[in-house]
Amino acid sequence: MNDRDSEDIAAQFIERGWEITEDETQADVAVVNTCAVREQAELKAIGKLGHLIWLRKPIDADFPIVGAVGCMAQNRGADLVKLMPDIDFVAGTRQTHRIAEIAIDIFNKRKAGIGHPKLPKGAKRTPKTSAAAVDISDNLQSHLYINKHLPAPSSKRACAFISIMQGCQMNCSYCIVPKVRGKQRSRPLEDIVSEAKRLADSGVKEITLLGQVVNAFGRDSENAKDPAAFTRLLRAINDIDGIERIRFTSPHPSYFGDDLINAYAELPKLCEYVHLPMQSGSDTILKAMRRPYKISSFLKIIDKLRDRKPNISISTDVIVGYPNETDTDFEQTRQAFKTAGFDMAFIFKYSPRMGTESARLPDSVPEEVKEMRNQILLGDLAEQSMRYHDKFIGTTQEVLVESAAKRGENLFMGRTRTHRKAIFRASPDDIAKLVNVKINSITVTALEGEIV
Ligand code: SAH
Ligand code: SF4
Repeated sequence: MNDRDSEDIAAQFIERGWEITEDETQADVAVVNTCAVREQAELKAIGKLGHLIWLRKPIDADFPIVGAVGCMAQNRGADLVKLMPDIDFVAGTRQTHRIAEIAIDIFNKRKAGIGHPKLPKGAKRTPKTSAAAVDISDNLQSHLYINKHLPAPSSKRACAFISIMQGCQMNCSYCIVPKVRGKQRSRPLEDIVSEAKRLADSGVKEITLLGQVVNAFGRDSENAKDPAAFTRLLRAINDIDGIERIRFTSPHPSYFGDDLINAYAELPKLCEYVHLPMQSGSDTILKAMRRPYKISSFLKIIDKLRDRKPNISISTDVIVGYPNETDTDFEQTRQAFKTAGFDMAFIFKYSPRMGTESARLPDSVPEEVKEMRNQILLGDLAEQSMRYHDKFIGTTQEVLVESAAKRGENLFMGRTRTHRKAIFRASPDDIAKLVNVKINSITVTALEGEIV
């Protein structure tokens, strides 16, 4: 989702005649799109911002203009200026559509000599001598504007993301997202469909719909209570000529009704893949997390999906070490992980986030125990995903060619409908084409084969 926002920000600059550089030392403006979901992500963003400011050698030089945007910027606002008085701007999640405007305004002023006051030699900047601009105000319309895409590079672009909503209306006890992204706001269905049509016209074959609870689309608390809005959107996109594949992320188990499950059988373009966050396999922990489902109903959704699409690939998110998670709770998570048969997963160690409900509880599971549970589950995952990949050997898979692979000459990467990464020989002309790849070998992360 941040990648999608970053793409929109980059497109805003291009629209204004700017260029994107791969070399940060050449940048006139550097924007760091931050995440606040775990402490680790925040530390990484702060490190990156510090490095970009340091690039402004000597320290009092004017460029690059450095700004923090996204969730951590929203959450910390002016506190980031206290931490890094040399930063130029901090803009929150409801300002994403205005980032180029904000940054270029500061850039132009800086060129005219207006900016951070110059300091005497050797002096350190403080919040008082900082001219950093901070805007973390709300904008109830902001979700309407995240619709810009980068032009395809020299070859065509195979895949694109569309943000169909912003915010989140759930209140998972551990999660900072509702605080930093605001309440759920869905875009009008027609806007999303016309964005998808534009992308199809530019050669895009695969669309991934994005939202924090993507399947609650159109069910924003204060307006429409239309339970079928999401499947209606899927149908409308399925009808667009040129689009060959549809994916979405992340759905929530509480909104995974039979209409959505049946859509897998009915809509030929909806790929046999779903990322369905489980978080825990223990009902006690799910309740404490305020995830409003029991593990039995979660597993029932999985059963029904496998019934409709026997070869469906299912991935998940799990948090280990939530406050008071016992060995028994963790064993239940392992068990559910096995029963569900996930072949991919993101496993997170619980990280208390300031301002969330669970941050008030003692972070009671020791770091070593969190680490051990993390490793155990990663081990289970490696086994399950190898077993899953094994089944691909000797089969021929439809693959959408995405880009040159990172390694090897003439090697390209693409994905199967089940979202497995495949590596094979191809040519740049094949990008954005559907090809058949015979799978010869596998690794934990990819399938290797040849076009047949
Ligand atoms: N809206 C999505 C997830 C958004 S955050 C959903 O509900 O599925 C992505 C993932 O980060 C979550 O699924 C959760 O597993 C993890 N996460 C969120 N807050 C966390 C925290 N405080 N500590 C550890 N992991 C966290
Ligand atoms: Fe966070 Fe829960 Fe909303 Fe996902 S559904 S973004 S985990 S509050």
